[in-house]
Amino acid sequence: MSKRIALVLALLISVVVYLGAQVGPGWVDQYRPAAQKLITESQANDFAWQRLAEVTDTFGPRISGSEALERAIDWAVAKMKEDGLENVHKELVMVPKWVRGRESLDLIEPVRQPLPLLGLGNAVGTGPAGVEGDVIVVKDFDELTARASDVKGRIVLFNAVFTNYGATVVYRRDGPSRAAALGATAVLIRAVGPTGLRTPHTGATVYADNAPKIAAAAISAEDADRFQRLQARGVRIRVKLSMEAHFDPDSTSYNVMGELRGRDLPDEIVVVGGHFDSWDVGAGASDDAGGCIVTWEAARLMKKLGLRPRRTVRVVLFTNEENGLRGGNAYRDAHKDELKNHILLIESDGGVFDPDGFGFTGPDDARAAVTAIGTLLKGLGASAIAAGGGGADIGPAAEAAKAPVMSHNVKGDYFLIHHTPADTIARITPKQVSDNAAAIAVMTYVIAERGLK
Ligand SMILES: [Zn+2]
Repeated sequence: MSKRIALVLALLISVVVYLGAQVGPGWVDQYRPAAQKLITESQANDFAWQRLAEVTDTFGPRISGSEALERAIDWAVAKMKEDGLENVHKELVMVPKWVRGRESLDLIEPVRQPLPLLGLGNAVGTGPAGVEGDVIVVKDFDELTARASDVKGRIVLFNAVFTNYGATVVYRRDGPSRAAALGATAVLIRAVGPTGLRTPHTGATVYADNAPKIAAAAISAEDADRFQRLQARGVRIRVKLSMEAHFDPDSTSYNVMGELRGRDLPDEIVVVGGHFDSWDVGAGASDDAGGCIVTWEAARLMKKLGLRPRRTVRVVLFTNEENGLRGGNAYRDAHKDELKNHILLIESDGGVFDPDGFGFTGPDDARAAVTAIGTLLKGLGASAIAAGGGGADIGPAAEAAKAPVMSHNVKGDYFLIHHTPADTIARITPKQVSDNAAAIAVMTYVIAERGLK
């Protein structure tokens, strides 16, 4: 062999090795044609975006206990049947019925002015007289503790600037009871989200057992900063909060499911889904009709293309994620006997923006498999498999089953519109819906076909 030929051969071998590392282990190549079919079909039209538009335009927000949610659920059952999915049915879930009612926040001093607000979900009302009082502004729980003696008889504003959801949502969840324990009469929180267009965000609060239940609402970042400046100048801030919020008795709702039964191992199940309920403002498009539609679409695409995997793909649209998680718990209880056959559960509940792959929690061999499958999604920008996945709705079943979990990840301004009137389909493009549906379809199909072992 001449030196030149040896050099060319060595170069060729290194190129092949390099490409091999780029496309993943060889076994994944056998799924490339099916993956390409799913991607091509999903991108061929805006069917799924139109379906998302139909849900949000027709039914609007879908809070637990509302007629709109139940109408949307019945619509989903009918559409799943039209799609040719199998075993389509509803499963009963008793859900809490929190009702916002009318609400208002009026600044009284230093000037009279109505301010935009959103009462926190699950909050109590103020009674017809409202709650009027001076406002004390604190940036965090440490400052609340430091100024504990000033809290009694006042309305506390938690002005915690949004950094990330986990770090600031604690003020929404725990703030009202922490302040009530010190004698506060009501609580305002800076909306949990980046500064928008003077947009308050709702979301659930959780009352502790050892403190009085006081009314609580979110105000915009802009107004929270204004209060902070007024306080720094020593100006008295006085407001009146009125909220009719209350609970009606629990009412009936349902988880919806439809399947593509496995052609070979139908008792082994891959669950994909999102939650079909939403808060009562906006249209619940990103949170989480979008997640429901793209996961459902994954099964519809397989059905349409005649790609029936060996194992069962089960689409679940959970009810009551936002203020109770009763749907996720009910799924676990109703499917107790088959939990051991759940090989993976995938949830999409982070919005449908530009694809960013998946998050995964599970054993190393399963992680290696999903990482390899991810290489089929390079063209969609969805190949990354991040550390840590899961979802609120799939959590109870996955925990009981000790099954691996995935979250569908995207890049976008989810928290800008999260739980606000701005959560509409106007923020979501047909391409984003098609690309995410394609990514979920490929991931779900190959896992259901190949398994994770
Ligand atoms: Zn959600």
